[in-house]
This record gives sequence, C-alpha cells and structure tokens, in this order.
Amino acid sequence: MSSIIKRNLLLEGKTKKIYSTDNPYEVIIHYKDSITALDGLKKDFLQDKGILNNEISTFIFKFINSYGIQTHFIRRINNREQLCHKVDMIPLEFVVRNIIAGSISKRLGVKEGTTPSNTIFEICYKNDKLKDPLINDHHAVFLGLISYEELNIIHRITSNINNILKKFFLDKNIILVDFKIEFGKDSKNQILLSDEISPDTCRFWDKKTSKKLDKDIFRSGLSEKVFNTYLEILKRLNVG
Ligand code: UDP
Repeated sequence: MSSIIKRNLLLEGKTKKIYSTDNPYEVIIHYKDSITALDGLKKDFLQDKGILNNEISTFIFKFINSYGIQTHFIRRINNREQLCHKVDMIPLEFVVRNIIAGSISKRLGVKEGTTPSNTIFEICYKNDKLKDPLINDHHAVFLGLISYEELNIIHRITSNINNILKKFFLDKNIILVDFKIEFGKDSKNQILLSDEISPDTCRFWDKKTSKKLDKDIFRSGLSEKVFNTYLEILKRLNVG
C-alpha cells in the first residue's frame, strides 16, 4: 500500500486534527490526546487516549460498514490516524437514547437509568456560540442546514446504526445507553457517517454492574481512570 503524505492542517477541533493529502477527495484524521466536556469548559490532556479512540472508532466504523452503511472511513494509517473521504460536515448532532442519562434527565426531570418504551432521537445544532441547542427537523431545514429528504435518509441510517450497535455491544455485556453521530456529504453529495464513535461520544454501561465505561468518568472528575476505562472497551470489542 502506498504511503500517504500529510499536507496542510485544514481544521483543528477539540479532539481531532484534519489534514489534506495529495488526493483532493481524501483527508487524514489525527486523534489527539485531549478530552473535553461541558461545551469545552472542562478540558484535560490524557496521554495516549487518542490512540485508544482511533482504534475503537476504526473498529466500530468497519463494523457498521460491514452492514452496507456508507461512512467516511477508508482505513487506519497508524496508531493515531485514519484516512477518510473528505466530506462537508452537516453541522448537526444526531443523538439516540435507549436509556435516560445525561442532559435529558435534567431537561425532562426523568431519573437516570429509566428505560423509555420508545427510542428517543434528538438533533442538536452544532454552534459553539449558541451552545449546541436542541432543535427539531423543521428548525434544521429552516436554518438551511439540511433538506427533509436528507433528514429522512439520516433518520433511517441512525435507527439502523442503533439497532446494529445495541445488539453488538450487548453481546459484549455492554449496554449502549446513548450516543451521538454526525454526517457529512462527499464530492458526489452522498451522505456518509463521519466523525467518530467512541467512549467520548457514547454512554456505555456494564450490563452486570451498571458501571460507567465512557466519558462520564471524566465528566465526574475521575481523569485518572479514563485511560483504563477506554482500554476496557477496546478489549471487549476485540474479544470474541
Ligand atoms: N455527546 C457528544 N458530543 C456532544 C454532546 C453529546 O458526543 O457535544 C454524546 C454524549 O457523550 C452522550 C450523548 O451524546 O453519549 C447524549 O449526550 P447528552 O445530551 O446527555 O449530553 P451531555 O451529557 O454530553 O451534556
């Protein structure tokens, strides 16, 4: 396989950097060791956390792709980097909730751990100044961020991903409590699952003990436990 040359830094986010390559349709995504929460107010540097998230997200994207769902992922290049299709990100976060936890618990006054009879789908508008507000389909279309047709496609893919991942994680004795995904559009206007799926973007609870195996460890101030918690997720993915 020919080696890929990293060219210019196109974008630097809270946890990843995006570089151009010699191919205008492909980018390199570099996973940093930073971790943030509370809209970026809480930050830390955690040695080698980027390596774990690169591996975990690689595994999950490959798994999702094996079900015929198109993603930006092409291949993992090294322990911190992936080669991906270049996309224009749609500035929306699609959240799926199988169990009540986090912001919805406070917003609706429902006890964490409650299992709703329906799966809950949410959309947040990615806008730092506005603090990523919760919006609905009509707001997203009104803001010119997406069309109803594209939303229909994304809702179908998102529901599919939830079904696939819920079952997959349950087999590893992990409850997929909730997660956030993002989508982008490639040069042919195709909608591709993009960004990452990792313990930074999902809530994982151990099936037997309900122990938290995700970024909530960091949110609750236990930075020193994050690495081993993420490592535990990686080990469970790779076993069996
Ligand atoms: N999430 C995320 N990025 C965000 C907001 C949320 O990855 O900017 C994930 C979060 O890790 C959880 C799910 O989306 O798995 C639902 O998060 P929630 O709305 O409860 O927000 P939070 O607890 O992060 O305030």
